[in-house]
Amino acid sequence: MTTIAIVTGGTRGIGRAVSLRLQEAGYRVYAIYRSRAPKPVDLHSDIKTVCLDVRDYEACKAFAELVESQVTDIGKIVLINNAGITQDAMFHKMKPEDWHNVIAVNLTGTFNMSHVFWPLMRSAGSGRLINISSINAQSGCAGQANYCASKAGLLGLTKSLALEGARKNISVNTIAPGYIDTEMLSDVPENVLNKIKTSIPMGRLGQDVDVASAVAYLCHNEAGFITGTTISVNGGQHIS
Ligand code: NDP
Repeated sequence: MTTIAIVTGGTRGIGRAVSLRLQEAGYRVYAIYRSRAPKPVDLHSDIKTVCLDVRDYEACKAFAELVESQVTDIGKIVLINNAGITQDAMFHKMKPEDWHNVIAVNLTGTFNMSHVFWPLMRSAGSGRLINISSINAQSGCAGQANYCASKAGLLGLTKSLALEGARKNISVNTIAPGYIDTEMLSDVPENVLNKIKTSIPMGRLGQDVDVASAVAYLCHNEAGFITGTTISVNGGQHIS
């Protein structure tokens, strides 16, 4: 039987580390990107890269059909909803499009991918769905009302799908990373970043592999009884 992993935003940052880790663990990995085609050196050659906008339901559906037609002996499907964007502004300056774009990628994109792969997980009788949320969904963050709302939405989605998937051996969990050293932080001013670092008890930013390790653990057979929960990967910055 073939075990499949689909990683949205899987070609760079946290998602790239997740794709590599799951490929090492023996999964047939599909790494999804939207705008920036990866260079062959960025990923293992066995990882299949797919250009897909998670905001587009029909495109997600066509991709799920493609996977189903390519792999006739699906044993287990893991879906990592990792694609995410920020469009920060204080609320009084936030434009409606800043709100809608962030919700469309982070929350509706997660719905789209989960909804099109859910039937395949149900018929395989084995699935792992992991939603990448954020520390800021747990704590709130000035200037990120749109992002925090989208990421907090994932917590409710996770709990509901965990209840629905349990009888079909599908576990659904959230990972809430703290500040991780990727391009997503490149817009954060140096002085703000320094302040953030001093507020992290472990005294450092997280690395992409810190999150990838948590994903790999949740995907492992031994983690099959864990569902509906959130794992924080934040160096102690927020303990809920
Ligand atoms: P990056 O900005 O480095 O990467 C984002 C990825 O998402 C890219 O691969 C990008 O594809 C993809 N993506 C964006 N929009 C779409 C779309 N519409 N359809 C498909 N793919 C899309 O982010 P990180 O690696 O830092 O973050 C990964 C996840 O972790 C995000 O959900 C983020 O919110 C979350 N997170 C990150 C934290 C951090 O400190 N870095 C902290 C907490 C949570 P492309 O390359 O083609 O643009």
